[in-house]
Amino acid sequence: MSEVAERLEKIRARVAAACARAGREPGSVTLVAVSKLKPAALIREAYAAGQRDFGENYAQELRDKATELADLAGLRWHAIGPLQTNKVKYVAKAALSFHALDRLEVAQELSRRRQDAPIPCYVEVNVGGEASKSGLAPEALGPFLESVRALPGLRVEGLMSLPPPTEDEQVARGYFRTLRELARQHGLTGLSMGTTHDFELAIEEGATLVRVGTAIFGERT
Ligand SMILES: *Cc1c(COP(=O)(O)O)cnc(C)c1O
Repeated sequence: MSEVAERLEKIRARVAAACARAGREPGSVTLVAVSKLKPAALIREAYAAGQRDFGENYAQELRDKATELADLAGLRWHAIGPLQTNKVKYVAKAALSFHALDRLEVAQELSRRRQDAPIPCYVEVNVGGEASKSGLAPEALGPFLESVRALPGLRVEGLMSLPPPTEDEQVARGYFRTLRELARQHGLTGLSMGTTHDFELAIEEGATLVRVGTAIFGERT
């Protein structure tokens, strides 16, 4: 068994255990394996171990890997990083979903460029209120959703967040609950939240997708 396969097996067991603690079906959580900056060979190993959902941050890297790995049937790419409008075309073409929508210009460009079925999007919210972070302030969410929902070519599935790292479990849960409550207020069911550091807490708080990189592919350099 490859190292990646072994790690995946452990993560799947932890996902299942977190679901059990929360009284949720294991199938209610999608594990997105974040492969940014990792070679295509490792993605092949994960695919051989049954993994189908992969997350990439950088649009050109996503484009290149989608081309290189086009032979892997049923592989699903999730674009999870912030996008510049001139890179939107790569995501529109190659991605199953986009998890970091927080600018109307990007939504408009995605809407123009998307040719297949509407791309499911997760609107990024800055739940930690960090000045330097991407994502919308919670107050900006309502007007933003109204504008984006009018656009063809994309569909808002839910909300996404990458809260500031913390060792305090209650603080981490608080961020995830804030995101869940915002989604509920806006009639959304998808919640893309939780990474290597905190995916179990995120699942207990309702995550429908978790984005796990380091615990599957090892540290990034
Ligand atoms: C890199 C990244 C992840 C994965 O983080 P790990 O700590 O490696 O699990 C998840 N989400 C986003 C948006 C990322 O950029």
